[in-house]
Amino acid sequence: AATAAAVAQPALPTTNADKIYSDVLASFQIPRDKMRLIATHMYSEFVRGLSADGAPIRMIPSYAYAMPTSHETGVYLALDLGGTNFRVCAVTLKGKGQFDVVADKFTIPDSAKVGPGAALFDFIAGAVEQFVHTHDLSAVAASSATGELTMGFTFSFPVKQESVARGALMYWAKGFDCPDVVGQDVVDLLQVALARRAVKVRVVALVNDTVGTLVAHAYKAPATVMGCILGTGTNAAYIEQLAQVTKYRGTPTPTGTMLINTEWGAFDSEGKVLPLTQFDRELDAMSNNGKQQVFEKLISGMYLGEITRRALVHLVEAGALFGGKLSTPLQTVYAFETAYMSTIEADTSPALTAVGQVLADHLAVASTTLTDRQLVKSLVQQIGTRAARLSAVGIFALLEKMGVPESKPVVVAVDGSVWLKYPGFQDRLRAALRELMGPEKAALVSVETAHDGSGTGAALIAALVDKQH
Ligand code: BGC
Ligand code: MG
Repeated sequence: AATAAAVAQPALPTTNADKIYSDVLASFQIPRDKMRLIATHMYSEFVRGLSADGAPIRMIPSYAYAMPTSHETGVYLALDLGGTNFRVCAVTLKGKGQFDVVADKFTIPDSAKVGPGAALFDFIAGAVEQFVHTHDLSAVAASSATGELTMGFTFSFPVKQESVARGALMYWAKGFDCPDVVGQDVVDLLQVALARRAVKVRVVALVNDTVGTLVAHAYKAPATVMGCILGTGTNAAYIEQLAQVTKYRGTPTPTGTMLINTEWGAFDSEGKVLPLTQFDRELDAMSNNGKQQVFEKLISGMYLGEITRRALVHLVEAGALFGGKLSTPLQTVYAFETAYMSTIEADTSPALTAVGQVLADHLAVASTTLTDRQLVKSLVQQIGTRAARLSAVGIFALLEKMGVPESKPVVVAVDGSVWLKYPGFQDRLRAALRELMGPEKAALVSVETAHDGSGTGAALIAALVDKQH
């Protein structure tokens, strides 16, 4: 009888540390039903954002109405501010969906990202001045009707747009924090900073990077309905019927469409549906924008590494990793970059040599066992997969809001460092979309890489605005 009872026992985890490890892994899983539930709530939050100011998802009208015809031509400047890099571009639109881009990258000093806005905008204006000089663009300016270069400004933060070329910053994200800019028109600030240096540039369009991505991809692929960024931050823009933007509906009900910048990164800041782990909560609590951008914090490159680091620390403290030994970098906030996750995921060698290398070089964990390395890799996979699945939820919910695809194929244009550089991210996102939509419908959705939407899109919108004059 004693033997029979022993056989009937469920397989218990061998040690307490194993149990803690499998619990941590499980806490990052989002099964299909949960994805659907999140999507349903997100859909209703999109509707809420269209009906009232101040809803968590802002659903910001871009005042960009028209999609490009592919025939736009001319030379336009574009500024791209809001991710890890800051760029100045000159875009030559050649018609027929063709364009050339010349771009220079600048690193924004950390000291300009926080503190008085004047320093940030002065740095930007200085970069524009330098760019115009380096690329000999004064002749282009002189030959234009106004004597100035025309510029589109891609500013990848939520602004309350008042027209296509005016908008006040609502709040910062992604580590930027210049409090005196909140509530100010960022085009004004830029124009004043340019004037201080006598740079002959006129800013005619203020564009979110998602709107730029949508427009730029539509220049080549007219079936594009959505632009999405999966990078340092996350967000999406799409084409909406004006009649659905009920917060701005006058009489008679307007007809036509407008591009809407959703600002979906703010989804569920009320904490209703997203399954946050203890590590997500810790990260949110220590961030400089607590209880904001909650969805973004689960998905984007600014945060994935830090979530992983927090989970690693927990596992080490529980004795489940590295013989229970913590190192200083492991205990340092933001010391574990999302780029390390890419290296770890890319390592398919039997001994997981590259994983060991990352741990040694960047986290000062000098010696690891193969088991350690396998556990680290599985944890990273779980956190990366969660991000891909939640991104798919957002795309799915927004397609549902548009009521597409029906029978015609549609294109979703995506850009950003996580999308481009994280191994397996694209496949996992597409697989999750199939889970959510079913294979037939999903076959009508082409999720494609958009090339340089932030630059080209801003230039295209500048061209469209320019033509209206
Ligand atoms: C910003 C968005 C932006 C996104 C991607 C978010 O943090 O709020 O405006 O589109 O990052 O860059
Ligand atoms: Mg960017």
